[in-house]
Amino acid sequence: MKKPLALYLHLPFCLSKCHYCDFNSVVADSDVHSKYLQTVAAEMKYYAALPHIQGRQISSVYWGGGTPTILGVEVLAFLADELKSVFNVPEGIEWSVEANPGTIDRRKVIPCCNAGLIASAWVSKVTTTRSLDLSTAVIPPMRR
Ligand code: SF4
Repeated sequence: MKKPLALYLHLPFCLSKCHYCDFNSVVADSDVHSKYLQTVAAEMKYYAALPHIQGRQISSVYWGGGTPTILGVEVLAFLADELKSVFNVPEGIEWSVEANPGTIDRRKVIPCCNAGLIASAWVSKVTTTRSLDLSTAVIPPMRR
């Protein structure tokens, strides 16, 4: 049996560009977000169909950036659905998303968790009391 794959999805959008940042990230409007996401969806289909990838189990999914959480819940749902439709994604694997305290709150995260989109999330960019509160708030049992 082929080894499972860990899947990384790069969502390079931020609210503003930090002066110290070397990540591949940009500030863009919703038209650019939309075109990028359509391209990501097409690329996922392309890669999922490659002979050495087709059918292989995904062991974890990580959405990095950028700040993926500047995208709306519907957009995150769209991406999750596209991903699950083309890759072999077993129930119960870890889904993670990089977040920024300014772009995420319970209202946004918990519906994602309940929809089975995000199994865990953590705030990697800023360590504040608020981010710690959030990180404990987003680890409920997942329903997929
Ligand atoms: S939020 Fe993060 S990824 Fe975006 S510009 Fe700042 S350091 Fe870079």
